[in-house]
Amino acid sequence: MDLELRKSLPQERRARQAALIELVGKLGREKFAPRAEKYDREASFPFENYDDLRDHGLLGLCVPEKFGGLGADFETYCLVSAEMGRWCGATALTFNMHASSALWTGPLADDLPMSDAERAELEGRRVLHFRRMIEGGAIYAQPFSEGSAAAAGKAPFGTLAAKVEGGWLINGKKIFASLSGAADYYGVLCTEDKPERSMRDTLYIAVPAKAQGLTITGDWDPLGMRGTVSRTLVMKDVFVPDEAQLMPRGLYFKAAMSWPHMFLTLAPTYMGIARAAYDFTVQYLRGEVEGQPPVKRRMYPTKQIAVAEMYIKLQQTRALFERTIAEAKVNPSKEERLRCYAAQYTIMENANEISRLAIRTCGGQSMLKSLPLERLYRDSRCGALMLPWTAELCLDRLGRETLYEADETDD
Ligand SMILES: Cc1cc2nc3c(=O)[nH]c(=O)nc-3n(C[C@H](O)[C@H](O)[C@H](O)COP(=O)(O)OP(=O)(O)OC[C@H]3O[C@@H](n4cnc5c(N)ncnc54)[C@H](O)[C@@H]3O)c2cc1C
Repeated sequence: MDLELRKSLPQERRARQAALIELVGKLGREKFAPRAEKYDREASFPFENYDDLRDHGLLGLCVPEKFGGLGADFETYCLVSAEMGRWCGATALTFNMHASSALWTGPLADDLPMSDAERAELEGRRVLHFRRMIEGGAIYAQPFSEGSAAAAGKAPFGTLAAKVEGGWLINGKKIFASLSGAADYYGVLCTEDKPERSMRDTLYIAVPAKAQGLTITGDWDPLGMRGTVSRTLVMKDVFVPDEAQLMPRGLYFKAAMSWPHMFLTLAPTYMGIARAAYDFTVQYLRGEVEGQPPVKRRMYPTKQIAVAEMYIKLQQTRALFERTIAEAKVNPSKEERLRCYAAQYTIMENANEISRLAIRTCGGQSMLKSLPLERLYRDSRCGALMLPWTAELCLDRLGRETLYEADETDD
């Protein structure tokens, strides 16, 4: 099943998308896929894959060209990420944290209303952070979750940043910090420490891994996405200079309100996993899985029906994915916003459903640890748990927002 890029795109942009997808596909097939079992077994970080990404300039995927990056826009990023997810889910999911740091502060931030002073401040920050990614090969993580309602977008973050001379003093704790111990900078969402704090006071600050007062705690032995190494970060009186801020005050809140598709960037990884589970099933039933005896199982009608069901589910998911990433923009219409929640829900739930069907259809031997399917199944289970848009919270938002307009109540 080959990828068909959007025909309506200008030829040059389509060619760039195709070239990036091909590059990541080659790296994935030749390098990431053969290493994936080891990272999963050890629950260790895919450092070698990041060396490959760095060597091919991909740490600058979403860094705008004027800052020396590859200048991928939102749609291009999502397509590239989905390709990466086919070969190693943990690499794609962690790469999302890094690439989104550039996507959000780069092309997405450009769309937001700002004063001239704020725009100049943002530009200054970007020179610094993008240079670190491009020239220094630095990796950025996105630890937002705290085990409270904050990562769900329902309350201010409990991690606080107090303004001090020349910078910020940060105190707090982040759970599930993917790339813990691997990132050079942790893009921490926190709240400015002042009276009557609200979500508008959210700050987005890059804390260096070497900062004094930052520690990584807890173990990491999860069901799936084991190579993400998402341990706990504790920050105790961590001082960072002013330029550590990735966005000027107030900008993250504006982005979260008016560029909702920014939270869809976790989903492409799982789109890739769904595709991998389907591809594996076809290969397996055809007796073509490398290293396995060439036993064909495709002649049984039950297998044919099951694979047909998987194909339909995959196409439904892919169609919604492609439509949604193509219409992502600042201030989307209500319909586009709702479709975005529906896409997130569909991709996360169907990735797991397609992986489940793959195991049932291929049978007992297919779920041995010597084959990738059981890892795809475990990794796919994690998608629906990712905040702010867990499967439950997508239903929650869709249920409310389909029935109520923003300012409507029953009183
Ligand atoms: C492999 C993996 C990697 C991750 N990497 C990162 C990362 O790099 N950075 C990061 O910030 N986070 C990361 N996360 C964390 C993730 O985004 C969630 O924050 C986490 O899974 C939530 O777990 P919890 O048990 O704390 O959920 P809880 O907050 O206890 O919520 C449990 C469930 O209740 C529902 N719920 C939560 N809040 C509300 C509410 N206000 N109203 C209604 N329902 C609600 C949701 O459906 C949620 O799934 C990662 C998670 C996984 C599994």
